[in-house]
Formats: sequence, structure tokens, C-alpha cells
Amino acid sequence: MKPNRQQSIESRCVHAGIGSYSHRPVIPPIFQTSTFAFENADQGAAIFEGREPGYVYTRVGNPTVAALEECVASLEGGCQAIACGSGMAAVHTSLAGLLKEGDHVVCSDAVYGPTCTLLTEVLANFGIESTIVDTSDLAAVHASMRPNTTVVFVETPGNPTLVVTDLEAVCAIAHEHGAKAIVDNTFMSPILQRPFEQGADVVIHSMTKFLNGHADVVAGMIVVQDDALGAIYRKALLHFGGVMAPFEAFLVHRGIKTLPLRVRHQSESALKVAQHLEEHDAVEWVRYPGLPSHPGHDVSRKQASAGGAVISFGLRGGLEAGKAMMNAVELCDLAVSLGGVESLIEHPASMTHASMGREARERAHITDGLVRLSVGIEGVDDLIADLDDALAEAAKVTTQGTVVSDSSKPNRRGDFAHTH
Ligand SMILES: *Cc1c(COP(=O)(O)O)cnc(C)c1O
Repeated sequence: MKPNRQQSIESRCVHAGIGSYSHRPVIPPIFQTSTFAFENADQGAAIFEGREPGYVYTRVGNPTVAALEECVASLEGGCQAIACGSGMAAVHTSLAGLLKEGDHVVCSDAVYGPTCTLLTEVLANFGIESTIVDTSDLAAVHASMRPNTTVVFVETPGNPTLVVTDLEAVCAIAHEHGAKAIVDNTFMSPILQRPFEQGADVVIHSMTKFLNGHADVVAGMIVVQDDALGAIYRKALLHFGGVMAPFEAFLVHRGIKTLPLRVRHQSESALKVAQHLEEHDAVEWVRYPGLPSHPGHDVSRKQASAGGAVISFGLRGGLEAGKAMMNAVELCDLAVSLGGVESLIEHPASMTHASMGREARERAHITDGLVRLSVGIEGVDDLIADLDDALAEAAKVTTQGTVVSDSSKPNRRGDFAHTH
């Protein structure tokens, strides 16, 4: 079937990018080959020079990967997509492909940790400056812009605090200053949020998360709305070398067929879980964009069709309660990552962010009692029962009085904490 932008996103999840090869198999074959043979020297020369369509070498292009690229470009509403070997390869290529020495980047403070490190510790060595700012604060974004700002990089909802950035407003600020807006849309997927509609120039994904959805692949994607920009990125990626392998592309393309079913179901379950947690005595605050108590709820409703599958919440008992809860969950897997069919729970203060130390964590609004939950497709009642059992263990720690309350707020405005 020819990809058709008039079709619903559900139909495009199943059909886009499929069928543009010979013999019409229903599913794109895995072209598990590093290189492609030419009919003769003239044809080889023609393909090499781009006078004839065809493939030369898998780092430069591969039909299985191209089918996935066509699919994701369609879902986001872009003109082309460039598949990368990981989400970080997509983050890196989307930035380094555009930037040069002396440029300045404005980046959300609530981004995937390695994105921030890439800017402040790696790209900084190449003479690229960056300002890390709370992009939910539009005045702060304005104030961060400089004459040499060429990129504004936004992730919304942010990680792990789920702060919501107004995409339309921030893209407009970027454009006023002649900068490009890059949006990491990993947390929402194109099912819930399509940043090109709000003015983004580039949309990237860690397809490791929702797009693949089955926790068995590491992969990334860059989507653009402008072929000239696409050509710049494709050239950058094939020279950086962080391309996607055909087998990974096959798996992600397979995962995408059920993306709308998974994401909408996970999002509905997440809202129920978030509402339940808000009423729980062991929980000090809940942050979920789909809850009216979230300070970015209205912005989220304006730019996204649901709140997503990731919830963060604060335990009254702080660090020890967090550990007790992690040790008590049974249905949820204790693991980092998100967006898969299985629910994953994570306690940043004792796991991913333990090495930062408490002070640095608090500056990043990652309080000791903060727990991040990625809701999967299990029965929501089973999930709530599992969380209740684990919260009962966390509450034991709290009532023993061995720990102080986790009273600091993960948002510097401090206006979202939901206390009971
Ligand atoms: C996981 C993640 C990344 C990095 O992706 P990898 O596939 O792990 O390299 C980037 N951005 C966000 C928002 C993520 O969640």
C-alpha cells in the first residue's frame, strides 16, 4: 500500500513504509547485508553518483532501514527521517550535524541526563556553548537567547520530573532569534504529540522506548520537514557512523504496528494509576501531565492528546522508603528505561542518580523520594495492587520514623506538590 498522509495514524502505523520493494512480501524482508552488488560497472557508477536509485553499502542506506524511516517520517508528519543506532546517536547527530564552533544552544534542564552531559561535557570541548534552562519558564528561555544561539533543544514532558514545556511558544522564541527548534518527542510518541504541528524544525526519538515498545532494541530517529536539512543530517550521520542495523529496523517497524493500541492503553492506565497514587497516604505528591493538579496540565492538553505512560511521584519516607518500595514491587520490573509493554519502576536517588549526591540531585529537582514509573499494558488493577503492596512496605519505613519527610519540591516553582 502506498503511504497516504490522508489515512489515520492507526492505518499508517500498519502500512506506511511497506511495499516499496519487489515481490510484494507483506513485511519488508531483513536485508541483512553490508553491501549491494551492481549489475555492471555503468550501473554501479550511476547508483554511486545518485543518477539511478539503488543501494551501495548499508552504512549509507539499506532497504529495511529505509522502510522504517519512511514509516516514522509519515507518523510525525515530516518529509524524511534518518535512522540512528540509538536515541543518543539521534540526539548527537541532530545537534552536532547543525552546530559549529562558537554556536550557543539553549536546552531544557529536564532532559534525558546524557543529552545534558553531551552538551556540557562533550560538545563544550568543540567550542559549543550551552545554557541549561527550565523551558517551562518562557521568560527564562527568552533571557537565555543570545545572538549566537542557533539551536533550542526541548524535551517535554521532561525527564524525570515531567515538567511540561509549551512547544508552540518555545519554537516561536527560537524562530524569532533565527534558531532551530529540536524536540525530543520520546516520552509522548507521535500518537500523543506531533511537535511539527507546534513549529518544531526537527523531531527526534529514542525508539528504544515507545516506538519499538518491546524493550529488545536500542535505536533512534531524526525526522525533518525540510529536505535540505535532511541531507545535512544524512551526511553527518554516515560520517559519524552511528547508523541503525537492518535487524533492529525490522524489529522497530514490527513494534510500531501496535503503537497506537499500546500508547493509548498505557496512557489510560497511567491516568488511573496517577489518580490512585494521589489518594495514597504514603505518597506526598504525584506528577502526571494528565492530572489537573499538574501545573502544565493546560499546556499539555493544548499540545498532546493524553498524558502519556510515565508518572513520577514522591514518597513521604524519602530515600529509605524509595528503596523499600523498589524491593517490594513484584509485577513492575525494577529497571531503567520506559515505554515498553512491561511496567518499569525506578528510584533515581538510589539508582540512576545516586552518584550525583543529594545536593546536585536537589538542584535538578530529583528529590530522595522521587519514583519514576513507566506504565505498561498489564491489567491496571494488577498494577495498582502491586503498587499498593509496595507502598505499604514504604509506609512501614516512614512510620518507623527512621527518615525525614521528602518535603523539597522537584519544581522550583513549588506549586505542584499534592499533599494529603
Ligand atoms: C532513552 C532516551 C534517550 C536516549 O536513547 P537511547 O536509545 O538510550 O540512546 C534520549 N531521550 C530520551 C527522552 C530518552 O528517554
